[in-house]
Amino acid sequence: MEHIETIVVGAGVAGLAAARLLAQAGRRVVVLEARDRVGGRVCTDRADGLVTDLGASWIHGITANPVAEAAEAFGLPTVEFTVGGYQPDSRPIAYYGPSGERLGDDAARAFADDVRVVDAALLTAVAASKADDSYLHVTETALASQGWGDERSERVREFLQHRSEEQYGAGIEDLAAHGLDDDFIDGDEVVFPNGYDQLPGRLAAGLDIRFDHVVTRVRWSTKGVSVTTPGGTLTADNAVVTVPIGVLQSTDFTIEPALPEPNAGALGRLTMNAFEKVFLRFASKFWDDEVYAIRQQGPEGRRWHSWYDLTALHGTPTLLTFAAGPVASEIREWSEQQVVDSVLAQLRRLYGPRAEQPTRVDITAWQDDPFAHGSYAYMIPGSTTADHDDLATPIGGVLHIAGEATWTDDPATVTAALCSGHRAASNILHREIPIAQVWAAL
Ligand SMILES: Cc1cc2nc3c(=O)[nH]c(=O)nc-3n(C[C@H](O)[C@H](O)[C@H](O)COP(=O)(O)OP(=O)(O)OC[C@H]3O[C@@H](n4cnc5c(N)ncnc54)[C@H](O)[C@@H]3O)c2cc1C
Repeated sequence: MEHIETIVVGAGVAGLAAARLLAQAGRRVVVLEARDRVGGRVCTDRADGLVTDLGASWIHGITANPVAEAAEAFGLPTVEFTVGGYQPDSRPIAYYGPSGERLGDDAARAFADDVRVVDAALLTAVAASKADDSYLHVTETALASQGWGDERSERVREFLQHRSEEQYGAGIEDLAAHGLDDDFIDGDEVVFPNGYDQLPGRLAAGLDIRFDHVVTRVRWSTKGVSVTTPGGTLTADNAVVTVPIGVLQSTDFTIEPALPEPNAGALGRLTMNAFEKVFLRFASKFWDDEVYAIRQQGPEGRRWHSWYDLTALHGTPTLLTFAAGPVASEIREWSEQQVVDSVLAQLRRLYGPRAEQPTRVDITAWQDDPFAHGSYAYMIPGSTTADHDDLATPIGGVLHIAGEATWTDDPATVTAALCSGHRAASNILHREIPIAQVWAAL
């Protein structure tokens, strides 16, 4: 039986960051990866010469962000695109009112101001919330305190509902009151015109990664770990498990003995979301110039309310929209044409017949991916923000859980994944490692 110092399960950004730091420190590390590629939920498609990030797109705030620092150190080009955090403004957005008419600048500004007023009231409502309260509950509290009329309240209510769906892939009643606490964006946001997968590609260089190795069981004791795949069992002094929590919660992946507290309780209060991307490429651009995004208000926007203009990235007229939360579940069985027809019906409300059939469509299916079970984790009512860090509490001195869901300070992101891998390596080496080591040469 092959014995290794550290086995890392999963070659996403968390696993690669941990493996790299441990290898740099001279440890014998093997990464076991179920897929035939690195990157996990950072995944770029290049069919027809078009770069399409099917997983993560954005660095949500480049200030003091290690992913931005890594991208710069690796020389990866980025383009500013500061609307990834469901901001009401900050960059030009074309707003359409419930009737389908474009809002004037004053009306759009007044609406964004209303969102900011309610956001400020939300801080108080969230701070006063009870453990089991949902984001819907605190939203209603914050709205009620304004004393506004129905129409004005409804526009902000639907915005906050859509924000919960787009930011966390969760219906507003399913997300914990504290579920957006750490959704803070510091600085500009950027995307990767040449593909986000260049980042894990660079992190993977020089590592011993075994592809098509689906781990089914991890056994641990204070003496070490054994990790089983259909091809056999490897033993190691310790392991870093970075599979998404959807995999951890499934019966396809067992940990023996079962996770202790606080890990088990924390895992039970997090869940994978439903969040899919829909890319539409068109022969010609029919929407407004000089806007980062298009948003429509009102009941017609129940499914499709926001479109992001990616044209500047590659020169091909492209809109990205999201099927987020309940809508992602709803369209799960739909054909591609059903999705396109449904999205186009809304674009035609706004732009008329100029919104022609797209020339290419890409729709993701992360919900059905057995190595993801969704796009990222969110907090259900009853959870606390500390559940993320608690999930990473070292087990028996040998088992370390990492990944986006285990980082409290900006969960659900590539940044969280990278930081969690760095923490796992620091815990194994029993010393602080400068974060910049993650992108230093192997
Ligand atoms: C559609 C979408 C949009 C997103 N948008 C953004 C964004 O704009 N910005 C942002 O910062 N983040 C975004 N994210 C989230 C971001 O992609 C993730 O938080 C991050 O990539 C997670 O990294 P990870 O290493 O924790 O997990 P993963 O990347 O999931 O890595 C885990 C690895 O484990 C492997 N694995 C799973 N099961 C097994 C098994 N049984 N045996 C062996 N290996 C296994 C997987 O194949 C995978 O490679 C998005 C994600 C999605 C899906």
